[in-house]
Amino acid sequence: KKILVLGLARSGVAAARFLAGRGARVTVTDSAHPAKLTDAVARLDGCATLELGGHRVESFVGADLVVVSPGVPELPETKAARAAGVEVVAEIELAYRFLDPAATLIAITGTNGKSTATALCGTICAASGRPTFFGGNLGNPLILAVDTPANGPGGLVVAEVAGFQLETSSTFHPKVAVGLNITEDHLDRYGTMEVYGAMKNRIFGWQEAGDHAIANAEDARVVAGARASRANFWEFSSAREVPAGAFLPDGRREIVLRLPETERYPTSALSIVGTHNLENAMASVLATRLADVVPEAILAGMRAYRPLPHRMERVGELGDVEYYDDSKGTNVGAVAAALDGFPRPVVLIAGGRDKGGDYGPMIRALA
Ligand code: ADP
Repeated sequence: KKILVLGLARSGVAAARFLAGRGARVTVTDSAHPAKLTDAVARLDGCATLELGGHRVESFVGADLVVVSPGVPELPETKAARAAGVEVVAEIELAYRFLDPAATLIAITGTNGKSTATALCGTICAASGRPTFFGGNLGNPLILAVDTPANGPGGLVVAEVAGFQLETSSTFHPKVAVGLNITEDHLDRYGTMEVYGAMKNRIFGWQEAGDHAIANAEDARVVAGARASRANFWEFSSAREVPAGAFLPDGRREIVLRLPETERYPTSALSIVGTHNLENAMASVLATRLADVVPEAILAGMRAYRPLPHRMERVGELGDVEYYDDSKGTNVGAVAAALDGFPRPVVLIAGGRDKGGDYGPMIRALA
């Protein structure tokens, strides 16, 4: 088939190589100047025709399939392709179509915490000794999972999923889906919270009876999305007990699962701190348990996990002052979560691009 890959970052390169390896005639297009793409082009190894520094609409409408990299917005050319009856899919949707139903797919979305929860789930899955792949938006593109041992019976595939990728998915169907939170972000793209929230909740949309939908009980939008799914409904909460799912009893010394059998996991096993990270941990413990990872492996994975760079990472100390890098806090909810309950007086060095949300939650955390 004639396949057009849109966007030549890591996922575009991986998708192009994958498709060419399976006999497709691949063209890649990227609006960036060719001089900025020399490394990516080198990694293509000549597997694709190049259309760089702009897009040719004829290539879109003449393709059998268009594969969109994460973060690439809707363009006049993708609209034209759709209007001409050409299917336009996210890289995760393409990957999904090559996943073995005998492997278990865990997918994680949310405004904040996706990378942390994905890496923690992946570490827990790997601790079980079962073949594991984790990636998606973070690190390795999901398409790379296809040719690994994780893509088979007993395998575990953990995917970090951004809302943009759900927008261009049509069958993506995880056995276990997690919605961490939906707070204001990307309103420059989506306009309203209703549209943005609906896009994220598509993660539950293709699930079936017998699958598992996990929602943050404190986030009404996520709960509504998970409840609307055909899958079993589970919740996690940092504020109260839940009837089915995960919670933190007073003192926060343990994560309790109610499955309905009770299981307990000590929070002292974790090296990540803060309420938001306990939420990421509850979601990860619950998700992996529902994917049939045994409790011993969950505990071992919690112990083995180390925080990712740029997420409240302690980078040094000078005089009496500790310095933290939280440069992945790229929206108001993330900054508020990082500041919330910080044990020392803080000087916040803030900056970045406005994406059209309300700054109220950050002001409250700063106060
Ligand atoms: P994502 O992949 O969704 O961007 P990360 O795990 O990379 O999420 O975390 C990015 C930042 O978001 C962190 O540095 C932290 O400030 C904040 N954060 C992480 N987890 C949560 C959460 N569960 N709720 C709110 N904020 C969070």
